[in-house]
Amino acid sequence: MSKDLREFLPEEIASLMKSLGEPAFRAGQIFGWLQKEGVASYQEMSNVPAALRQKLEQEYPLIRPRLLRRQESSDGTKKYLFSLADGQAIEAVLMSHREETGHIRRTFCLSSQAGCPMGCVFCATGSLGLQRNLSTGEMVSQVLEVAAIEKKNIHNLVYMGMGEPLLNMEAVLKSIRLLNHAQGQKIGIRRITLSTCGLPEQIRRLADEGLDLVLAVSLHGPDDETRSRLMPVNNRYPLKELLAACRYYTETSRRRITFEYIMIKDLNIGEQAAAKLGKLLSGIPCNINLIPVNPGPHGFVRPGRQEQLRFCQALEQAGLAAVIREERGADIDGACGQLAGKAAAEAETGEL
Ligand code: SF4
Repeated sequence: MSKDLREFLPEEIASLMKSLGEPAFRAGQIFGWLQKEGVASYQEMSNVPAALRQKLEQEYPLIRPRLLRRQESSDGTKKYLFSLADGQAIEAVLMSHREETGHIRRTFCLSSQAGCPMGCVFCATGSLGLQRNLSTGEMVSQVLEVAAIEKKNIHNLVYMGMGEPLLNMEAVLKSIRLLNHAQGQKIGIRRITLSTCGLPEQIRRLADEGLDLVLAVSLHGPDDETRSRLMPVNNRYPLKELLAACRYYTETSRRRITFEYIMIKDLNIGEQAAAKLGKLLSGIPCNINLIPVNPGPHGFVRPGRQEQLRFCQALEQAGLAAVIREERGADIDGACGQLAGKAAAEAETGEL
C-alpha cells in the first residue's frame, strides 16, 4: 500500500484512521486539508490533534514535487518544471482564458509519465523515451502544488503533458476520482480531458468505465501512410482499428470525441486530406482541433494562416466540425516535453 496520503481516497484514509484508533470524522478533516487546501505540511492541519499530526508526519511523510523552474509567457501561460522524489523531471502548464460570461477559466495540463514511449516524431517528449509511470499522488500533486503557488482555483484539467495516459490507466483514473471529489478540488468530470495517441484496447476499456470525461485522440494524418510517418503507434494500430475503437467509445459513452490534428505544410493538409478525413470520420460524433505545428528539430514547416483557414473550411465542407486552436505559450517552449527535454540536456551539461 502506498504511503503517499495525497493518493488516498476518503474511504482509504478512514480505514487508516480506524487502524490508528482515531474517530471516523478525522478522515474527512484530513482529506479536506490534503485535497482541498493542498497543505504543504501536516502542521497546518489545525483541527487535527498534534499527536496524530506527528504520527502521520513520521509514518506517512508528505511527498511533494520540488519546483525547479517557473516560466511565464507574454500571453500569461505558465509552465512549471518539477523534480520528483527520485529526481525525474516532469512539466505542467497552466493557461487562462476569459469566457464569454467574463469569467476567467484556468486549464491545467499535467503529465502522466516521466518521458513517453510512443515516439511521435513532432513531440519533444517522444525523444526522451519512457523513464517511468507517475503515481496517482505525483499527478494529484502537480495540481495541488500549482493551485498553491498561484493561489488560484483550477477549472479544467487536460492529461496532455508528458506521457501517454492510457498506458498508466489505473493511476490516472484514480487521480481523476481524487481531483473530481466534492471534498477536494471538485474539478467537474466534464471539464477533464484525457488525451491519447490512439490505443484501441484502452479506448474500449475507458468507454466501459462509463466516465463522462472528454476523450481526445491524436489523429494527425488522413491515411495510414501519413499517420505512420508521424506516429509509430499507427504501425501497430492502423486507422481502421483505431477508428473502430473510437466508434465503440462514442456509441457506449454517448460522448463526442475530440480529434487533435497537427497541421504541417505539404504533408497532411489541403483539400484532398480534408476529403479523406470526411470519409474516414463519417458517422463518428466528433470535433477536430487543428494545431499549427510547433517549430522543432523535426524540421516540419507550419502552414501560413491563410492555408490553415482554407484547410479548416475544407473540413467543414466535408461535414466535419473543426476549429483552429489558439496557440499558447509559444515563447516559453509551450509544446509538451520541450522544457523537460531542455532540462535533461542542461542537467547533462550541469547547467540546471
Ligand atoms: S505526443 Fe503524446 S503520446 Fe506522442 S510522444 Fe508526445 S507525449 Fe507521447
